[in-house]
Amino acid sequence: MSALAGVLGFPVRHSRSPAMMNAAFAALGLDWRYLPLALPPDRFAETVRALAGSGYRAANVTIPHKLAALELADELSDPARAIGAVNTLTLHEDGRIAGDNTDAGGLLDALGEPAPATALVLGAGGAARAAIWALANAGTQVTVWNRTARRAEALASELGAEAATRPGPADLLVNATSVGLRPDDPLDGLPLVEARVVVDLVYGDEPTPIARWAEERGARLVDGLEVLVRQGARSLAIWTGREPPLEVMRRAVVHAASSTSAQV
Ligand code: NAP
Repeated sequence: MSALAGVLGFPVRHSRSPAMMNAAFAALGLDWRYLPLALPPDRFAETVRALAGSGYRAANVTIPHKLAALELADELSDPARAIGAVNTLTLHEDGRIAGDNTDAGGLLDALGEPAPATALVLGAGGAARAAIWALANAGTQVTVWNRTARRAEALASELGAEAATRPGPADLLVNATSVGLRPDDPLDGLPLVEARVVVDLVYGDEPTPIARWAEERGARLVDGLEVLVRQGARSLAIWTGREPPLEVMRRAVVHAASSTSAQV
């Protein structure tokens, strides 16, 4: 079966998902094409409905559409409902649209070990939301720090975590802020506590400042590209029922031309 799929964002031209997904479809011998689709927010709902009638069967959703996708979907998975965001849409032939969230499961897959006992998540935006929910749901005691403290408090109380303005050490440290998008971003505003494992959701063409910091301290680093691959792998499995070719996907995201590298 041939099909179309895409990533819906605004802007979206720097996304590595088309390279990653097209490589995966080719490796699986599937006649699917995956395109970057730039959609202004006011056109989101009407365009997604039109895509379903134009051969599109699947879409990833990135900034700023994850909430609009939640509202549009006719059915939602438990993670999507609990996190309050959709990054994966399945456009069924009968017109039904299913919404899922693979950011949470993708983070746990990328960690690839039993959930840590304690974690500190930095940030209170969409990426932090999925990370906190994933870890708390896996049994981890999660502390949340955010530059704007009241956002950390609101998110922590909603998702069963604790907020802290001066957090202590944790088994796992997750950077879910946008600090590090630029290679020279200073880290002195972040409470970088001792941790055995560090996840940096931010990625770029070079190692990020937090990746360098983690490696200097001998922590195990899980980088943002691995999280990107793992959320994409889960989306691909939902759409096709096939085992995702992880190595092919990893190679594709590393080689994808990208100048700002900030897009999922
Ligand atoms: P967002 O909703 O815009 O949230 C940004 C967060 O960063 C907020 O908590 C903000 O704090 C904080 N922040 C921004 N500048 C800061 C600074 N100078 N110092 C301290 N905190 C600062 O963004 P998002 O969607 O959550 O994404 C966050 C990052 O994760 C992005 O870089 C994105 O590329 C990355 N990401 C990666 C993946 C992946 O698969 N690897 C998936 C999703 C997102 P305030 O509340 O105080 O403004």
